[in-house]
This record gives sequence, C-alpha cells and structure tokens, in this order.
Amino acid sequence: MKRNILIHPDPRLKKLCEPVTDLSDPLRQLADDLLETMYKAPGIGLAAPQVGVLDRLIVLDCEKGENAAPKPLVMFNPHVVAVSDEQNTYEEGCLSIPDQFADVTRPAEVEVAWIDRDGNAQQQGFNGLWATCVQHEIDHLDGKLFIDYLGPLKRQMITRRMQKLKRELARA
Ligand code: ZN
Repeated sequence: MKRNILIHPDPRLKKLCEPVTDLSDPLRQLADDLLETMYKAPGIGLAAPQVGVLDRLIVLDCEKGENAAPKPLVMFNPHVVAVSDEQNTYEEGCLSIPDQFADVTRPAEVEVAWIDRDGNAQQQGFNGLWATCVQHEIDHLDGKLFIDYLGPLKRQMITRRMQKLKRELARA
C-alpha cells in the first residue's frame, strides 16, 4: 500500500526514532509499503518517519538505468559503524522536500550494520550514490534533514518554499 509522504516542515520529521525490538508482520508490511511508496514517488530512499512512523526503518534502491534490475534494501535499526576519511559531494534531494536540491558533503564510503527483512544481522560497505543515500536515510531516523547541512539562509529559503507549497496543497 502506498503511503502519504510528509512534507517538511513537520514535527514528525524532527523526532528521534525508536529502535525496532520485535520484527513483527506489521513492521514487514511497513517495509513493503515504504518500498512501494519510494518506487512510485519515484525516489531512491525513504525512511519510516517520512510516512509518520517513528521506527528505525529505512529502505533504499540506488540502482540506476532503465534496464537495471531492482535492488531493494530494507534496513531495520541501521547504523554507521565506520566511515572513510575521503569525502564526497553529491547534489541531494528528499521526497519530503520536493523539487529542492543542494550539494551536501559526506564521507565517501561507509560501513553499515542493520537487521534485514528476515531478522538477520547484516553488515556491508557502501560507496558512491549508495553511501550518500544510506547516510541521508539514517539521518532521517535522528530527525535530521539534508537542509540541516546548509547555511541558515539557504535552509530558511527552502523551508519558506515548502511552507508555501503546503498551503497550496491544503487549498487544492
Ligand atoms: Zn530524505
């Protein structure tokens, strides 16, 4: 089931999310819903708080190209265990901040540990777009948005645009 994506500013996007302790069927359903919502948006990553659920769960699929096979990843309780000294700058966007993009610099490579959809512990290194995306999504679980990396003026400008967009959506 596709879910509604919250638009910034929303207090639920600023909250610290709770670790998942019991991998129940409703949580697996939530993971499937997040993937469906992400693919339909379309986007390359989505975090549970973006649909108003304050659990530590993210999904991502950064495979590029029309003929690329889907490579969905479901991560419960993901955390970064190691980062490279090397940094990488990507132009980031966010499904909760539609049509706004800005350069963000982050570690170029990260090692991430998580619990997968079947309840198994996983650990893997990521680079390129995958590294940026997984860090962006984990940030969501700590109430942090990519615009929090920008200067205050740029952040306020984007936030005002989003407030205007939300007023327009509410009137529609
Ligand atoms: Zn985002």
